[in-house]
Amino acid sequence: MAKDVWVSDVHDGTFDGQEIELKGWVHRTRGSNKIWFLVLRDSTGIVQCVIKRNDVGDECFENLKSALIEASVTITGKVNVDERAPGGHEMVVTGGQIIGAVNADNPFPITESAMEGAEGGETEFLLDNRHLYLRTNRMTTMLKIRSSVFGAIHSYFRDLDFIEYHAPNFVAGAVEGGSTLFEVPYFGRKAYLTQSWQLYAEAAMPALERLYTIAPSFRAEKSRTRRHLTEFWHAEMEIAWGGNADVMEHGESLVRNIASTLLDERSDELQSLGRDLDLVARYADTPYPRIRYDEAIETLQGMGVDIEWGQDLDYSKEKILTQDFDVPHFLTHYPRIAKPFYHRPDPDDPKYVLCHDLLAPEGYGEIIGGGERTWSEKEILERIDEEGTPRDAYEFYIDVRRYGGVPHGGFGLGVDRVCSWLAGADHIREVIPFPRDSRRVTP
Ligand code: ATP
Ligand code: MG
Repeated sequence: MAKDVWVSDVHDGTFDGQEIELKGWVHRTRGSNKIWFLVLRDSTGIVQCVIKRNDVGDECFENLKSALIEASVTITGKVNVDERAPGGHEMVVTGGQIIGAVNADNPFPITESAMEGAEGGETEFLLDNRHLYLRTNRMTTMLKIRSSVFGAIHSYFRDLDFIEYHAPNFVAGAVEGGSTLFEVPYFGRKAYLTQSWQLYAEAAMPALERLYTIAPSFRAEKSRTRRHLTEFWHAEMEIAWGGNADVMEHGESLVRNIASTLLDERSDELQSLGRDLDLVARYADTPYPRIRYDEAIETLQGMGVDIEWGQDLDYSKEKILTQDFDVPHFLTHYPRIAKPFYHRPDPDDPKYVLCHDLLAPEGYGEIIGGGERTWSEKEILERIDEEGTPRDAYEFYIDVRRYGGVPHGGFGLGVDRVCSWLAGADHIREVIPFPRDSRRVTP
């Protein structure tokens, strides 16, 4: 029978004084031959269950006492208010049984302190045991925050009548440069895993006008950093009849919306991770400033950083730049030479393109990349040739401009990066169940 009572209901006071049945896993145990304390965990929290030999009888007592950490159990008992118990309530047990036992020869390998969330998920051992590490308090908390972030993104776009639209994952060409393309054998030909939904979204732009997606993107990132995965979740949007400023406004509203959704839905979880809620509230309420690329380069040079005009900003530079930001900042107008062909040159000064990155504070760096697209046929052909890119793979993309091109633009937001930043995680790996990087595709 499906479960209908949760540990959180017990602590809400819903069942005070009543007899109920709980289903969950053994989190911790201690006791004697007369009285046994079994802390039961489910997806909503933990509750202490007090088992007395005199109440439940020898057979039941011995059976429940033999349940090891992470065995699954059902427990019946009466709910008591007890200020001293974790959560404020405890169960006085009347019966129960083991559903899925854990064998004493092969105990649950993750330590109690890791289960409580005292340790981060960084050691190789915990990464090797990721499938079990998911049950720890820290990981469960991260996954709940992640779920709310995804929900907030869907709500933001759907409330504005955007259409959710899907692009293929096998593609023939690059969006973000060839060096991070994953090549896949494809029936005697070569295909690649998609780096972005963008080019296919642009094709549907004249059909749907306002589109979004949340989907995985794949990039063969060789350098391992705290913010790169080889498979990450990408929230992307595209709008017809819009320019760089319109797209930035959506990016800002979306990110502020995500922050305020987390405050509504996940304050307890954020606090349990040690996150300062005032900081998250500031990210929800305070406008995000816009600065031009040139200014950022001057600032960095003024700080003694070795960077020249025309270079893209890598993580090390963004980290320095954003360390003292109080809210996310947009960086706009990158040099044309630093960006791929689809970025539209600024008609006022074609040395620059109409694009933006949104950089998160506290050293987290880029969370959004976006801008206006090169939308006329003439300009796109110029840009493709200037870059030395073969036209073949992009014929369909050029066609979109041949038949009724209009100004349009969009952005891509790294969902895992946003989760990592808002949760205050040390590493992007902490916020995704099974992280993929250049060294790891298991478990
Ligand atoms: P970076 O310079 O940090 O590698 P990028 O310029 O390659 O980022 P875009 O191509 O603009 O990134 O992609 C849009 C967004 O997708 C980024 O702002 C970022 O949030 C996210 N993103 C890009 N690459 C990764 C990755 N390897 N892992 C996680 N998120 C990523
Ligand atoms: Mg990149």
